[in-house]
Parts: sequence; structure tokens; C-alpha cells
Amino acid sequence: MNSQRERPCPRCLLEEVPGAEALAALNRQWIEALPPERRAGEAAYAARLTACRQCEHLAAGSCALCGCYVEYRAAQADRRCPDVPNRW
Ligand code: SF4
Repeated sequence: MNSQRERPCPRCLLEEVPGAEALAALNRQWIEALPPERRAGEAAYAARLTACRQCEHLAAGSCALCGCYVEYRAAQADRRCPDVPNRW
């Protein structure tokens, strides 16, 4: 048994967390259900997730500061990173 392989990836987005496929699919549905005027633009979304990937508060797809799934939070134009100062 390789316990290293069973640990969740702390710096992964939800889409990449092993065993979280159903949750990742639900997250995609939430994002797709956002009205267009509430969706962050593609460039902003990508930049936000890049910041999350480099952040020590990212924990297997969730933000340890707010508890949100970062992909869903980052997809909402009016949301901000909860860190002080915020990273996006
Ligand atoms: S603190 Fe901000 S940058 Fe870090 S994981 Fe949370 S939302 Fe992403």
C-alpha cells in the first residue's frame, strides 16, 4: 500500500483530485448554471485559478480560508479571494 498515493493533492483543483470526479462534475454544473452576466471572463477565471494553484490555502480543490471550491468561487465575477490582501 502506498500511503503517498492515497493522500489528497493539496495543490490540486477539484478537477484533478483523485476520487472527486462526481464532485467535480457537480461543480461544473454549478458553474454552467451561472447566468452569463455573473460569470467571470475566461482570462480572469484562468488567472484566478493560477493564483489559487500557487496559494498555500488551497487544499484539494477547496480554499482553507472560506471553504469554497475555488473553481466555483473563481467562476463568479463578483467574488473575490478571501485572503488579506486578496490575491484576485
Ligand atoms: S486564499 Fe485566495 S488564492 Fe488562496 S486558495 Fe483561497 S481563493 Fe484561492
